[in-house]
Amino acid sequence: MNVGVSYKRRPTVAVLATGGTIAGEASDAAQTIGYTSGVVGVDRLLAAVPELDDVAVIRAEQVARIDSKDLDDALWITLARRVNVLLAQDDIDGLVIVHGTDTLEETAYWLHLTVTSAKPVVLTAAMRPFTALSADGSLNLLNAVTLAACPDAVARGVLVAFSNRIHGARDITKVSTYAVDAFASPESGILGWVQDKRVEFQRRVTRVHTIESVFKINAIDTQNPLPAVQIVVSYAGAMRIVIDALVDAGVRGIVIAGTGNGSIHTTLQQALVNARMRSIAVVRSSRVGSGHVMRNGAAPDDLLGLISAGTLNPYKARVLLMLALAQGWSEPTILQSLFDKY
Ligand code: ASP
Repeated sequence: MNVGVSYKRRPTVAVLATGGTIAGEASDAAQTIGYTSGVVGVDRLLAAVPELDDVAVIRAEQVARIDSKDLDDALWITLARRVNVLLAQDDIDGLVIVHGTDTLEETAYWLHLTVTSAKPVVLTAAMRPFTALSADGSLNLLNAVTLAACPDAVARGVLVAFSNRIHGARDITKVSTYAVDAFASPESGILGWVQDKRVEFQRRVTRVHTIESVFKINAIDTQNPLPAVQIVVSYAGAMRIVIDALVDAGVRGIVIAGTGNGSIHTTLQQALVNARMRSIAVVRSSRVGSGHVMRNGAAPDDLLGLISAGTLNPYKARVLLMLALAQGWSEPTILQSLFDKY
């Protein structure tokens, strides 16, 4: 509980808005699909929540106005750099990122690995547009700022405040296309709760993140971003042409969203032999949505030099692989040790 732990002054929280449904506008309040994402500016979002005044001094910035389905590496780099600059300032205590729900889990994990501060970074979003009946964005925003302003949230890695729950960046995933309670942290569970301007944690994350992470983005050029890594799904009837095309296109890494424990259709596996001969890094993850991809004797890991993603879903495995390749690490045993650690 955050009772008894407080800053001497009212905390200052930077709020960076990127768009999403939380900033979505529709012509009809009954509309929860078919709206336009990212239309409502950060000032209007904040003005709708006067209760924020009790919690923190806010410094707002509009970083983008996109539907998060359209997010790209360049925006990730811009965002991570801006977060690091702001958190280096003594008078900023925490930071909130207003995001779309669709790729929120990817941005959260990206920042979990690239933020160079222990100060709280909290992502939030909404399932219903700003103009909708029972819109969920304002309460999520209040909860996110409450969490970012809480000293007990320091050094816990990047967090997500959504539907009163606190999720860790590594664990969270979107599990519903429509429900207001759209996120879960399968296997690991949530980290705690934020409700009525109070924060309660029940556990800490143990994997390496933020200030202990080796991944630095300063050397990465925004114009010529990260090494190309793409995701390929394995399923009944899968054809190898997708992998062959990626190999021909010169990708540096492929993440397989495999069946079950990251198993791969024989047809795809044959194409991966060719990919590995060209030193393209290949990670096995699972399309299942929960569980763990373990290395085992039956898997082609040792034979082909494939990496198993553990509990990282394919989208987050892609983030880690891109960052590792950007640092110049491509040897399978080194990559596997990174996947075991982060
Ligand atoms: N398409 C929207 C986005 O991710 C969905 C949302 O925010 O809920 O920006």
